[in-house]
Amino acid sequence: MAFTCATGKHRRPSRMKRTTARAAGVAALATTGVIGTLAAPALAADNSAENSVEQTGFTPVITVGDTIAAKIDAQADAQKEAAEEAALKKAAAEAARKKAAARAKEEREAKERAARAAERKRLNTFVAPISNSYVSTGYKSGGSLWSSGSHTGIDFHAASGTTVHAVGSGTVVETGWGGSYGNQIVIKMNDGTYTQYGHLSSIGVSVGQTVTPGQQIALSGATGNVTGPHLHFEARTTPEYGSDIDPVAYLRSHGVNV
Ligand SMILES: [Zn+2]
Repeated sequence: MAFTCATGKHRRPSRMKRTTARAAGVAALATTGVIGTLAAPALAADNSAENSVEQTGFTPVITVGDTIAAKIDAQADAQKEAAEEAALKKAAAEAARKKAAARAKEEREAKERAARAAERKRLNTFVAPISNSYVSTGYKSGGSLWSSGSHTGIDFHAASGTTVHAVGSGTVVETGWGGSYGNQIVIKMNDGTYTQYGHLSSIGVSVGQTVTPGQQIALSGATGNVTGPHLHFEARTTPEYGSDIDPVAYLRSHGVNV
């Protein structure tokens, strides 16, 4: 046995070496993390110094495998990048859309606020009852024409049929025949005062109707106690005759240039 062994001694260590070498190869591969699927080809490859590529046929498999893996990795990376880019683009588009919508909303609200403010201003604005006219007879001027002995309002020069405007916002409280005033309209203004319009040829509003500044309410004329056509205008603290206040001061205090 021992002698036989002497002969074999020459060969056995050789196989041991090879086994060790293979084990080392496996261990080395294990550290790379590809031991599972590539262990066998790697072992073959480990012998590639002794065996040609044609003999084992494994080396090309490894090469191809690596290439495919690299290609798959690259493809996955590209797909991931494309997906991320698409997601970013979508998010950016969404953000832009929201921003534009918010801006449009702001602009719309600003316009609405401006329109409301303009409407409030318009409703609080006063105008002259006759456009482009002038006061032909002043307040408190004396004369035999007035039963009180003095003029309770002012007269605006106006030919018959001239448009008569409500001087401000209010509600009509009286329309019809007013004796020496002829056809008249009395409006309760939103500030609690009253305005009266006399000698009208035509009345265009009815009691209870709300009016806004500049709205046409009648046509001027020469009804009642007059010597000629004009508009008689009064400012009052009540709807009744006798509660008159200075109509010029009243209109001026409301910003009307008379
Ligand atoms: Zn008058």
